[in-house]
Amino acid sequence: MKKIVMKFGGTSVANGKNIRHVAKLIADNRNSDCEVVAVVSALEGITNQLIQAAEEAKKGNREYIHKFKQKILERHLATAKEAIEDKQLEDDTEQVVKARIGELEQVLTGIVFVGELTPKSRDTVLSFGERLSAPIVSGALKDIGLESEHLTGGEAGIVTDSNFGEAGLLMNFTRFQLKKNLEPLLKKGTVPVLTGFIAATQNGETTTLGRGGSDYTATIVGAALDADEIWIWTDVDGLMTSDPKIVPEAKTIPEMSFQEATELTIFGAKAMHPRALEPARKEGIPVRIRNVFSPDNPGTLIVQDEHIKTKDGVKAVTVVKNVAVITVSGAGMVGAPGTAAKVFEVLGRESINILMISQSVSEANISLVIQRSLLERAVNTLEIALLGRDFICEVMSEDDVCVIAVLGAGMKGIPGVASRIFSAVARENINVRMIAQGSSEINVSFVVKEEDGEETVRAIHKEFKLSTK
Ligand code: ADP
Ligand code: ASP
Ligand code: MG
Repeated sequence: MKKIVMKFGGTSVANGKNIRHVAKLIADNRNSDCEVVAVVSALEGITNQLIQAAEEAKKGNREYIHKFKQKILERHLATAKEAIEDKQLEDDTEQVVKARIGELEQVLTGIVFVGELTPKSRDTVLSFGERLSAPIVSGALKDIGLESEHLTGGEAGIVTDSNFGEAGLLMNFTRFQLKKNLEPLLKKGTVPVLTGFIAATQNGETTTLGRGGSDYTATIVGAALDADEIWIWTDVDGLMTSDPKIVPEAKTIPEMSFQEATELTIFGAKAMHPRALEPARKEGIPVRIRNVFSPDNPGTLIVQDEHIKTKDGVKAVTVVKNVAVITVSGAGMVGAPGTAAKVFEVLGRESINILMISQSVSEANISLVIQRSLLERAVNTLEIALLGRDFICEVMSEDDVCVIAVLGAGMKGIPGVASRIFSAVARENINVRMIAQGSSEINVSFVVKEEDGEETVRAIHKEFKLSTK
C-alpha cells in the first residue's frame, strides 16, 4: 500500500470553492492502493489577522476584538457553507467552528484583561487559524463520500519543546505517537486531516513551529509514517527560478536536491519553513511541490541527488525581505580571539537566528543579517553584552536592506559566476553592501538596499538566462 502525505497551503484552502477542489484532489489520489494523510494551513490571510488581533488585544482594544470575532466567524461559516453541501455535515462543521471561535474570543479577552501577550498566549491565538480550517476540509471530504477525521498537530502526536513561536521538534517521541494515532485511522480507510503549523509540548500546551510551519508538519508526518512521497500543494507550479510575482518569466525547476532546495527555502523561496525539508531528507522521502490549480503539471521533485545540472550552475535567484544588518566594529577586534564566538553566543542565547555572516579581512568588523523583527532585541542584547569590553566600540544597524541569494549546486568550482553576478548588478547602478558565500559554494548571497531588491533579482535572472533553462 502506498502512502502519501499531502499539504495544502493558505491559498489552496482560501475559500469554500478551493476547499471542494482540494477534497476532490485527495479523492482522486486515494484508492485501495494509496493512503492519504492531509495537512492543512489556515485560510489565506488568517494567520496574519490573528497576529494583529493578538496585538490589539494586548493594547486593550475590545472593540477591535469584537469586530474581529464577527469577521472571522462569518468568513469561516461562509467557507463551510460553500465547501459542504450536505446539511447535516455542514451543521456539524458549523458547531465546531462556532465553539472554536468562542474559545478564541475568550483567549483574546483574557489577553485584554491581563494586558500582556506572552509567546505562549500568542501561540494559542495563532493556533486557531489551522484549528478552524481543518474541520472544514474534513467536512468537505465527508461530503464527497470519504471517511475523514480532523486532528490538531498535538492530538495527532507532534510534540515539541516549549520554545513558543518557533518550537523545537522532539522527533523520536513524535514518531512513536504519530504512528500510534494515525496508523489505525489509515487502516480503517479514514483520511486524517491534520492542522499544519501547530503542535504541543509534553504537557499539552499549544506551540507553533514558526511561520510557514505547515510544510514542516507535512514532512514530520511523512517521515514518521515512512510515506512514499510528500506532496506540498501550493499556488505556483513548484520551486521556481525566482518569485514569479517579481520575475513574471520565472520558470519551474523540474528537479532539485534536498541541499539546493533547502538553501532556496532558507533564502525566501515559497515562504517555506527553513527546517521544512529536514525530516524528509533524513529519511530519503521524495518531496513534490505542485500547483493545486494546475494538477497535471508535474511540479518540482526534490530528491537526494539531482540529475539535471545547468551549464553554469545557477538555478535560482531570490530576495529575502524583512531582514536587517547589524555591524559590530572596533579596531581592538583585530586579532582578538573569541569576538565572533561571543557575538554568536549572545544572539544564540536569545534564540536570534543569523541568516548571513561576513567578516572583513582586516577583522575590524563583523556584519550579520537577521530577521528585521528581531533587530531591536538583538542590538540591545549585543550592546549590553559587548560594549563594556574594550575591544568593541560600536554596534550599528541598518533596517532598509534585503538579501539577494543566487543558488545552484552546479556553481561549485565554476569560476566566474560571482563576477557575472556582480557585473550584472553594477550595470544597474546598484550598490552591494555586504557579500557572503557559504562554504558549500552552492549559494552566493549579498545585501542591497531594500528598494533595489526586485531590480537586482531581475538583472541576475536575465544575466543567467534562467527563463530559458
Ligand atoms: P502556501 O500558502 O501554499 O504555503 P506560500 O505563500 O507560503 O504558499 O508560498 C508560495 C509563494 O511563494 C508563491 O505564491 C510565490 O509567490 C512565492 N515564491 C517566492 N519565491 C519563489 C520561488 N523561487 N519559487 C516558487 N514560489 C516562490
Ligand atoms: N498558517 C501559518 C502561517 O501563515 C502556517 C503555514 O501557512 O504554513 O505561517
Ligand atoms: Mg507557506
